[in-house]
Order: sequence, then structure tokens, then C-alpha cells
Amino acid sequence: MRIAVAKETDPGEPRVALTPDVVKRLVGLGAEVVIESGAGLKAGATDAAYKDMGATIAGARSQALSGADVLLTVRRPAPGGLDGLKPGALVIGIMDPYGRSAEIGELAKTGVSIFAMELMPRITRAQVMDVLSSQANLAGYRAVIDAAAEFGRAFPQMMTAAGTVPPARAFVMGAGVAGLQAIATARRLGAMVSATDVRPASKEQVASLGAKFVAVEDDEFKQAETSGGYAKEMSDGYKAKQAELIASHIAKQDVVVTTALIPGRPAPRLVTTAMVKSMKPGSVIVDLAVERGGNVEGAVADQVVEVEGVKIVGYANVAGRLAASSSALYAKNLSAFLETLISKETKQIAVDWDDELVKATALVKDGTPIHPIVKPADA
Ligand code: NAD
Repeated sequence: MRIAVAKETDPGEPRVALTPDVVKRLVGLGAEVVIESGAGLKAGATDAAYKDMGATIAGARSQALSGADVLLTVRRPAPGGLDGLKPGALVIGIMDPYGRSAEIGELAKTGVSIFAMELMPRITRAQVMDVLSSQANLAGYRAVIDAAAEFGRAFPQMMTAAGTVPPARAFVMGAGVAGLQAIATARRLGAMVSATDVRPASKEQVASLGAKFVAVEDDEFKQAETSGGYAKEMSDGYKAKQAELIASHIAKQDVVVTTALIPGRPAPRLVTTAMVKSMKPGSVIVDLAVERGGNVEGAVADQVVEVEGVKIVGYANVAGRLAASSSALYAKNLSAFLETLISKETKQIAVDWDDELVKATALVKDGTPIHPIVKPADA
């Protein structure tokens, strides 16, 4: 079985799908691994490091893909990006499938099977394959580091002979995987932290990290979690009450990190321009949801925007800002899933299309779109 990794074609993507240590594991399992030259450089993995672990280096993408049974990728390949793969090959990565049926349908024409790692069910068996968690955890950490770098003051309280520096007040909006790590990081840096979410389960998690929970806890809040553990989109009535509470809280904050997402929907708008303007000059807001439409009015992808002295940081692909760490975890997520698709006896691809992990993540089977997210309406 031949596994290929090509260079990511999106210039904003420094991560790589396999790191050298994971190559070693796959080679140990009997696979042949081919890496396009330079694929890991932005994540700190040289061709030599891959070679040392048993990979072959290909001079060009077409060379890496030719004859491969599996293509591992970070992002969905661009149109034409699967050319050269053989029909029946598996393509596994973060496919960003919502609203992308046309692009995925185009890629499907090569006759391959395509799996979206972000659709992995959040069940115990699949925890090791959970790319949303592995990447969001690092993004939550990095968001606070980015906020601290933009903030013209210290995070911790400092009592010095020359006077006392007060602790920064940090507010984290959305206490999922990224938000909880943002809370923990801001606490470690010495900030006074508060957080909000619409899922009741998050209240205890926020408190256990030593942060204050701030939320509208009405009847709708009590039912805001789906059976999958995600947030529902809230009613306009709830949003109005939430906005009122947040407006008074946010005005007293120095740092705000927003992480709120709803699967398959645009990110909820939580911070208005009026709220931004109510903050003290020098305050910093980091919007981790900027790629999904943003939680913060005025946030712009990959820019730091200033509104009346308040900085709105909108870096896209924040996990990619820690490319070595995020690639290391992502590669482990991918290889754990791939191992479920390989027969232990024959060491060849043997997909069990009835397995719940396969059913949840398979967008395309042998060239045919099969997942409801990408299936044409008349199919
Ligand atoms: P996410 O990235 O989808 O969203 C981030 C957070 O934003 C969530 O906590 C969500 O509730 C919150 N949010 C959404 N709308 C909001 C609004 N209007 N106002 C405030 N907050 C809002 O979430 P996630 O980090 O992927 O976590 C989702 C769930 O999955 C959580 O319950 C988490 O504990 C769970 N989880 C389970 C496993 C597992 O069991 N294997 C692994 C990871 C996460």
C-alpha cells in the first residue's frame, strides 16, 4: 500500500498531513510512504527527516500521487489536485464540505473516495482521530498568546517598588475545546478570566478552570445543546438578552477571545461595533471564528483592525500559526483513522463502509458523492 503526501497548495496553509515520526509508524505497519519534496518545511519537517524515517521523496506532486492508494492532506485539494490518483484511491483530510458540493463533486470525477476528518463523530473510540479538538486546542492557546503580544500591558498583576500593575481582565466567548484552552492559557498568564457559552455543560467546565461563568441561564439555555454535544442556533429573543448582558460585561474587559461556532452554519455574531467601542483603548479582541464569518463585527481575516484604539485580531488558520505542533497532532489523528481502513492481515485497503466512523466521514465513495452534505438533491 502506497501513501502519498503532497505540498499543500493553499499559500495560507503551513501544516503538513504527515510528520516524520508518524511516517515511521506507517512504514512499520508495512506501508510505502511518498512525500513531495518540501511538503513539511513550513512545519519544521525536512525531506531528510522524512527519508530517515523510511519515506521516499518525490520531486513533484504528480510523482507523489502516481500509483498511490491513499492521499493524506490537510486541506481539500484545489480543482485538478487529485489528477493522477488512481480510481478507488482514498483521499483523507479536512474537506470543509458545507456548501462545497460542486467542488467536491468535481474532485469525485477522478473516481476516488473522499473522507472529511472534521465530520468524525465525537465518541470515545474516535477521540484519537478528532482533528477539531487537536487543532482547536492549539488555536485556543495561540489566540491568547496573540492577544498578549498585541496588548500593551501585562497580563499578571505585578507589585513592584515602582507601583502595582493590575491584572488583565480576559473574557472568553464560547467555552468549547478552543475556549477552554484559551481560559487555561489566560489564567496561566495571570489574567482574571470570565467566560460565556450557551451550553449548560460548559458552566461547570469554566468554573473548574477557575474562571467566572457569565451567561443568560433561561429555559432556552437549558436546552441549547444538541445530542452531538454542539450548540444550537439560539432564538432572536435569546440573542437580544445575551447581547444586553455581554454589552455591560465586555465594557470592563481588556482582552476578549471569541471562539463560538455552530456546525454547518455561519458563526454567531456576538460582539457588535458598539460593544467594541465601549472597551478601553488598548484593549484587544481575538476572533477565532473569523474564517466562518466572525463573532466580532469588523473582524477581517488575516488582519489586525483598529477601532477607536481597540485592536481586533482576525488571524485565519490560527492552529497553522503553530504548524509544527498542529501538524504533529493532525498526523496522529490521520494515521489513527487510516489504520481503521487497512486490513491487519493483508496490509491493504479494506474499508468497512458500514463502520460508523466511515459512514460519518465518507463524502464520496469510488467517485460517487454519498454524504448528505454533498449529495446532489435529486440523487
Ligand atoms: P465548537 O467549535 O462547535 O463551538 C465552540 C463553542 O462555541 C461551543 O462550546 C459552543 O457551545 C459555543 N457557542 C455556540 N454558539 C454560541 C453563542 N451564541 N454564544 C456563546 N457560545 C456559543 O465546539 P467544540 O469546541 O467543537 O465543542 C463542542 C462540543 O463537543 C463540546 O460539548 C465539547 O465538550 C464536545 N467534545 C467532545 C469530545 C469527545 O467526546 N470526544 C471531543 C471534543 C469536544
